[in-house]
Amino acid sequence: MVRFGTIWCVTLCALLSEPAAAQNRILLNGNVVTPSGIIQSGWVYIEDSKIVSVTEAKPNVQASVIQSDDYIYPGFVDLHNHPVYNVFPRWTPPQLYNNRYEWRRAQTYLDTIQKPEVDLIKSNEFCDMDEFAELKELIGGTTTLLGISKPARDKPVPSCIQGLARNLDWYTGFYGTSAGQEPVANALGITPKGYPPIAADWPGDMPPERADEFRQGLQSGQFNLFVIHLAEGKRTDAEAQSEFGLLKSAQFLTPKTVIIHGVGLGTADFAEMAKIGASLVWSPRSNVVLYGETTDVVAALRQGVTLALAPDWSPTGSTNMLAELKYANDYAMTKLSGAISSKQLFEMATTVPAHIAQIDQWVGSIADGKYADVFMMKKNAMDAYANLVSASPADVTLVIVNGVPVYGTAERLTQAGVTGTEDIMVCADKRALNSQALTNGTFSAVVAQLTPKLAAENIALGPIAECN
Ligand SMILES: [Zn+2]
Repeated sequence: MVRFGTIWCVTLCALLSEPAAAQNRILLNGNVVTPSGIIQSGWVYIEDSKIVSVTEAKPNVQASVIQSDDYIYPGFVDLHNHPVYNVFPRWTPPQLYNNRYEWRRAQTYLDTIQKPEVDLIKSNEFCDMDEFAELKELIGGTTTLLGISKPARDKPVPSCIQGLARNLDWYTGFYGTSAGQEPVANALGITPKGYPPIAADWPGDMPPERADEFRQGLQSGQFNLFVIHLAEGKRTDAEAQSEFGLLKSAQFLTPKTVIIHGVGLGTADFAEMAKIGASLVWSPRSNVVLYGETTDVVAALRQGVTLALAPDWSPTGSTNMLAELKYANDYAMTKLSGAISSKQLFEMATTVPAHIAQIDQWVGSIADGKYADVFMMKKNAMDAYANLVSASPADVTLVIVNGVPVYGTAERLTQAGVTGTEDIMVCADKRALNSQALTNGTFSAVVAQLTPKLAAENIALGPIAECN
């Protein structure tokens, strides 16, 4: 009887302790974009959260199979976003500004974005805003992002932050199982100790005590990454230009420093950045919309600065990384004589930001042993990089984060073993979400929560994608 019970348990317990094979073993077939080239009709085998193998021949495994002629890309790593603001529709500024201090004080901005954002947070909408914003990123292939600000500075970040995309600020899954362990500091700007406020009526983005906190964190090795908005305005703007000096005086120019924007920086500044190993994130669309010009990235690259690409936010930048890639490619072709190739842009959205954030041992490329953060996209062009920078949001057919299929066509999600889905319209195409991955409830419930609250501010909910 004991022996029979043991045999019975060996069989049944194995079945009970192991999720269905279809849930955690996925075999993707397509044109795999790897750091060493494209594997035409290759195979990516995913087991649980990790990529087990990337091969030319079909591996002999039991798994849910998705066979396609699509491209398979690594998920994007977005180092510059303000996702909770992405519930708002596009904001068309009434004028071009000289620097960010101007528009952030403008009444039209305060009325249409800043005040409504504060009101939504006050009415406990953070988790709805977070789900909407993370999905907006995910459906364009972003699997890791930075910039979700906490609803209350003195309270722990809500647990809804876990799930969907990896949040570099609060929870990536790389540094333990609880939120708030991430070695990342994200500063909005600089007004360090001993310096007057940048504008008479603007108290500054970094009070002296915060500057001390950041400095100690950098010196003690607490941070792997120190991200700071800097020199955001016209290239010749005095405020924008002065901030690189402030950064250096505050001892914030370090190998872990990532400068966001840097529009006011010149060749000598880029040379100093390169010498110390600081990096730069370029957000061209938002810069052009607000200031009429953007960072001299050709000079930055010429000086050897490590350069990543990110969308800033959807009110004045792109809706997500995929849209910013398209914008940057058009900009490079028309304004920079093609000085930055589509392959470089792809790297600036994947391997480069993963390297900057010191997470490239885990994500940013498709290789054995990496986490399974990947997406599939229809093949409309023979060149994988040209395909990417000319894509429409509806070309994305499947997005997987940490081995979990989160978004895609209903057919793909079902093939990948997902059992419960929710329909979502992206452009004119029907797509689906994995219901189990939605940690804060259904997408339709999130929309139903946000819509009337925004309507009370005379604002429409922003689009989940912009179609072209
Ligand atoms: Zn920004």
